[in-house]
Amino acid sequence: MLSYENLSGQDPELYQLIKKEEERQADEIELIASENYVSKAVLEAMGTVLTNKYSEGYAGKRYYGGNRVIDEVEIMAIERAKKLFSAEHVNVQPLSGSPANAAVYMAFLQPGDKILGLKLDHGGHLSHGHPVNFSGMLYDFVQYGVNEKTGLIDPEEVREIALKEKPKMLVVGFSAYSREVDWQKFQDIADEVGAYTFADIAHVAGLIAAGEMNNPVPVFDVVSTTTHKTLRGPRGAMIMCKEKYAKQIDKAVFPGMQGGPHDHIIAAKAVAFGEALRPEFKEYVKQIMKNAKVMAEEFIAKGYKIISGGTDNHLLVVDMATKGINGREAEEILDKVGISVSRSTIPNDPNPPMKPSGVRFGTPAITTRGMKESETKKIVELIDKAIKNRGDEEALSKIKQEVKEMCNKFPLPTSK
Ligand SMILES: *Cc1c(COP(=O)(O)O)cnc(C)c1O
Repeated sequence: MLSYENLSGQDPELYQLIKKEEERQADEIELIASENYVSKAVLEAMGTVLTNKYSEGYAGKRYYGGNRVIDEVEIMAIERAKKLFSAEHVNVQPLSGSPANAAVYMAFLQPGDKILGLKLDHGGHLSHGHPVNFSGMLYDFVQYGVNEKTGLIDPEEVREIALKEKPKMLVVGFSAYSREVDWQKFQDIADEVGAYTFADIAHVAGLIAAGEMNNPVPVFDVVSTTTHKTLRGPRGAMIMCKEKYAKQIDKAVFPGMQGGPHDHIIAAKAVAFGEALRPEFKEYVKQIMKNAKVMAEEFIAKGYKIISGGTDNHLLVVDMATKGINGREAEEILDKVGISVSRSTIPNDPNPPMKPSGVRFGTPAITTRGMKESETKKIVELIDKAIKNRGDEEALSKIKQEVKEMCNKFPLPTSK
């Protein structure tokens, strides 16, 4: 456990809230596909004096003095990221995934330009053209979906839309899609219509870094990712691109989108990339994927319907309609027993977005705790039991106890 001696003395009220959240994380099963637990080293890097520094600009070209050391930190993060993803150019300054995507659009397009992206309810992200998001307000988005029968993105369907719409950019990326992508096929489509290719690998970056999923970085023009999901780093993002786009990407991030970078976070990114370069990370990722496969099989065996029929990555989207509830109800039932999940739309969802039909489950966090196939099976049993006994408060509180006992056997990396 990290010591918080100053915080607890000076601000006991806030300290108590942090302790409460620490306990919640320790006692609950985290199945939100976008969440993870960082290592002690990543956490420590975030809590350093690097937060005191202003360093607008880039290494060797800063707008403030005193950046000798910061330059070295940023270069270290960049070099490690390049190695992880075989990238020609990396910008590690984006504050989070959405601002990174804003910078990508700004670097390549003018407001009003046409972009082709995946529909949100088919697994896309808000920043891929949703009307309530800056992306949908500033750019003219047209969207593709997954195939109605297979639940898979069909490159042939995407090609047809691209040929008709002639977008300036093709976005391939998702928050709730569980299948592998053949990036070259999308590059070929973009080449045919003269569009830039942009991959948003926010969710699967860790799996790609470990070499367990196809890597778009050598293929696409530009790739963005968050650093806090499967990459298991601090909250933040980065952009990778071909060397010929380096200048326009860097200019879009700063001064285009942002002011000073968060140097303490960039240091923590460097630590996380260092961890991801180690052989243990590959083992970790393999186990994430094994756990996700087992989870899908167990759900199917219990009569649940999985979108696209299974998973190639760390997540799965389950249609709860076969169990007579919607995704929001499932989220609330599971919350009562200490299992965190996120409700999710399913392709062509008959229900409204606040009460969608699906739940998205992910295995990165439980795998970080050291849980393997047998624990994953047990978790699906607990989920199924909670859903079946949803009206029975006593049964639910027994399940909550079982969840807690299981969690206590697998402490968080930061509480060991
Ligand atoms: C999570 C995610 C983002 C946004 O990241 P934030 O850090 O929450 O802004 C962008 N794109 C995709 C595909 C994501 O899954």
